[in-house]
Amino acid sequence: MPRPSGPAPALAASATPLSVLPGVGPAVAEKLAARGLANLQDLWLHLPRGYEDRTALTAIRDLRPGVAAQVEGKVEAVERGFRYRPMLRVALSDESRGTLVLRFFHFRAQQLSQFVPGARIRAYGMPRAGQLGLEIVHPSYRVLDAGEHGLGEALDPVYPEVEGIGPANLRKLIGLALQRLPDEDVLELLPRGWLREMRLPTLREALLTLHAPPREADVTALQTGLHPAQRRLALEELLAHQLSLRRQRLALQAEGTRALVGDERHVARLRDALPFALTNAQARVYAQLREDLSQPRPMLRLVQGDVGSGKTVVAAMAALLAVADGRQAALMAPTELLAEQHLANLRGWLEPLEIRVGWLAGKVTGKARAKALDEVASGAAQVVVGTHALMQEGVEFDDLALAIVDEQHRFGVHQRLALRDKGKGNVPHQLVMTATPIPRTLAMSAYADLDVSAIDELPPGRTPITTIALSAERRAELVERIRQACAEGRQAYWVCTLIDDSDEIEAQAAQSTFETLQAALPNARIGLVHGRLKAAEKQSTMRAFKDGSIDLLVATTVIEVGVDVPNASLMVIENAERLGLAQLHQLRGRVGRGSAASSCVLLYQSPLSAMARQRLDTLRQTNDGFAIAEKDLQLRGPGELLGTRQTGLAAFRIADLARDADLLPQVHALADRLLQDAPDAANRIIDRWVGGAARFAAA
Ligand code: ADP
Ligand code: MG
Repeated sequence: MPRPSGPAPALAASATPLSVLPGVGPAVAEKLAARGLANLQDLWLHLPRGYEDRTALTAIRDLRPGVAAQVEGKVEAVERGFRYRPMLRVALSDESRGTLVLRFFHFRAQQLSQFVPGARIRAYGMPRAGQLGLEIVHPSYRVLDAGEHGLGEALDPVYPEVEGIGPANLRKLIGLALQRLPDEDVLELLPRGWLREMRLPTLREALLTLHAPPREADVTALQTGLHPAQRRLALEELLAHQLSLRRQRLALQAEGTRALVGDERHVARLRDALPFALTNAQARVYAQLREDLSQPRPMLRLVQGDVGSGKTVVAAMAALLAVADGRQAALMAPTELLAEQHLANLRGWLEPLEIRVGWLAGKVTGKARAKALDEVASGAAQVVVGTHALMQEGVEFDDLALAIVDEQHRFGVHQRLALRDKGKGNVPHQLVMTATPIPRTLAMSAYADLDVSAIDELPPGRTPITTIALSAERRAELVERIRQACAEGRQAYWVCTLIDDSDEIEAQAAQSTFETLQAALPNARIGLVHGRLKAAEKQSTMRAFKDGSIDLLVATTVIEVGVDVPNASLMVIENAERLGLAQLHQLRGRVGRGSAASSCVLLYQSPLSAMARQRLDTLRQTNDGFAIAEKDLQLRGPGELLGTRQTGLAAFRIADLARDADLLPQVHALADRLLQDAPDAANRIIDRWVGGAARFAAA
């Protein structure tokens, strides 16, 4: 990727270390750095988390609980108490004859000596009802000098704290940094005409406004992040991320790669051998993949498809195009269990075609690992299935043509990119599959570097799943129902979930549910799967469930992704109120895969919160993953929807996808325009906001 020649002046100014500021010695610099504040720009962007209006005084009599205000009054009385812990109460009164108590739970001797009856105090804070009328706990305050009257000119910014640096000092440093803010023409990177059209301020104006809003500024807008100055910054930040992803894509595609010739001999044999015909959606997406793969630039495609839509077989067909060319394909899954299932599927489909499927997971160690690595490196393994282990150092492919990543939302962007580096000389084509449908605007942000297609049709013969919500108090009825279902030869899942992310605690919960159910259902064959079991144990239990030699499978959410047992037709999800919509939908998708009528029971603890009720209602009303994703976005906001840790999208300093989602269409349009007309400005915007991260990813 060509870089702009030499750093632009604005970048140089922004990158100036904070040690140039008076008062910033090594000790202070270190404290700032600990908070991620290393250069001038970091301080410019260290925005207030709120504002205090000190431009006006409120009469004490007019104070209202819950409405922050500034008052001025004389100290009437001071009381020190020690009942349970030290406490200081200062009574203030003013001309309105109101009385207000300032209350402190910790204070210094020097503070005590300031509060002498008759002293004039100006205090700011949030009044609330106390024992003796209104009080403000730990107000910010100042003792006024005799004859001092002036009020603040602007709203006072309140900054996020930096440990070891007092608020006054931090404000001073930010003020000094702002004095070095470059002129408009150096700082501004967005087209002027466009800013005017959008009625947005320049970057310089926006920063100055946010650090020192004028007296007449709209405080409510500022407090909620909807002020034009905040929108302006959020927009530029979103734009930077969008540009960075798009630039990665361009850079990668500019490198080029080897096209696949599109030899379909293996594909044709697989299609003949399959016990089903492809759905139209599967056929369409496969054709798209084949077309992408026939280009001399790397494919970058995301395939979205609801649970059970049949993504795996489409991926297998794409892999066969690579194999037919004498090259390799890799399929990476986020969990061991899912990877094992893919392995079983692919072996079932491909070994009859005499295609060797290799296996590489964390648990493959010692001799087996050495052998697997050899097969991968020599090309003997034509298709390689595995977990993260595939991306590790020491894994060398002979000639990786296609990297397939299943359930992308579980992987970070960087992890996906890591597989790409496994193609020696040739960048592998990339296929990413996800069962978590994402609303379109968000998909464009999260996956700006990918083309998106959808398998938007389920295989025929699936009967819709009936979903009911049941209070945990009615557990006994449910157990009876399971007893009947098992007696009829149906199979059921019982999923134990916890909010706690710990494998261990979840495993314990599953273990005790397992024991309770065994006691309650002596005639049922019950199995248990959780993350603490050995892969071999999990696998043999799963296999037994698949074969029908287990009736009821008690499991933790390890079964969430991708597990496929068509005869299972009853799903019980415990503590359903604690799970998000996407996860519930995924779990429910484990049933309804065969021809039997399936049901899903959402077992909840009463009382339900309003949000939880909405989630459960949504699930009862629809089976459509896209509709559920839209609802999820409304209820939870995009950060969680995309899985904050995974996307890198949560690393926003200012933007908030939930709040600023309406900016995205403008962001996308502007990104197009800049990449076309002003690539240099685009690069500088990326540097300003994404900086090192983008360089890492594009490397
Ligand atoms: P997902 O998209 O959730 O990964 P899978 O690939 O696991 O779905 O497929 C779910 C099940 O549907 C598997 O048992 C698979 O063999 C089966 N399947 C896939 N395509 C079809 C089809 N066209 N007709 C019938 N069954 C299909
Ligand atoms: Mg799948």
